[in-house]
Amino acid sequence: MKNIAIVLAGGSGRRMGGDKPKQYMMLGSKPLICYCLETMERSFMDAVVLVCKSGDEDFCKREIVDNYGFKKIKAIVPGGRERYDSVYNGLKETEGYDHVFIHDGARPFISENILDRCLHYVEKYGAAAAAVRAKDTVKIENGDGFIEQSPDRSYVWMVQTPQVFDRDMIASCYEKLKRDESRLLDAGVYITDDTMVAKMYADVDAKLVESSFDNIKITTAGDMPIAEAILNKRIGENGC
Ligand code: C5P
Repeated sequence: MKNIAIVLAGGSGRRMGGDKPKQYMMLGSKPLICYCLETMERSFMDAVVLVCKSGDEDFCKREIVDNYGFKKIKAIVPGGRERYDSVYNGLKETEGYDHVFIHDGARPFISENILDRCLHYVEKYGAAAAAVRAKDTVKIENGDGFIEQSPDRSYVWMVQTPQVFDRDMIASCYEKLKRDESRLLDAGVYITDDTMVAKMYADVDAKLVESSFDNIKITTAGDMPIAEAILNKRIGENGC
């Protein structure tokens, strides 16, 4: 079985502020994006497709791939306007692989253990997603800021990445999504993750794979000190 990862670094990082996209900001001694790429490099993954902002391809090749000596990156492709456009572009480079691991480059603390467990479940069920059980009680509002529903917390998860799929299934779902895009926009359906796409176009339910609260997504400047604290804890634990 051949496994490939799509690492998404095609966002503009508007919510981060600062002069460079968050994926290239320094975390400890290296750019943020390097951490998940290093984990992919050490893992069972056969290849990685890196999706960067359109126009950043040469920069990524020189400053990230060559500078840090990544060997598994088989393609660097431009991202698109929305996250799902970037996934779609990445998927075009995954033909011939059995499973695709779609991962946010803004999540530096993915571990080999989570990758291993996602692999186990994608082999069994065809779709799996890293997630953590909600610690807080979650509310659904009525559209006016008042609580309408209080889902039973024991069933509530917060989904992360990687989200992992049979390659041909998810590629065909994304083809259908692209053909259906204007209808979705008109209907106000907003695609925020890949498990939604698998459910909508192949009726596949992804298995939730218990992950770690360390697997945060760096979104705003306030997340950087949290990331530094997690990094220091990991250096203390593993020496790396
Ligand atoms: O914007 P958000 O933080 O949800 O992005 C999640 C991941 O998707 C990030 O790693 C970001 O770089 C990536 N992304 C992308 N292309 C976009 C938007 C986001 O690759 N158009």
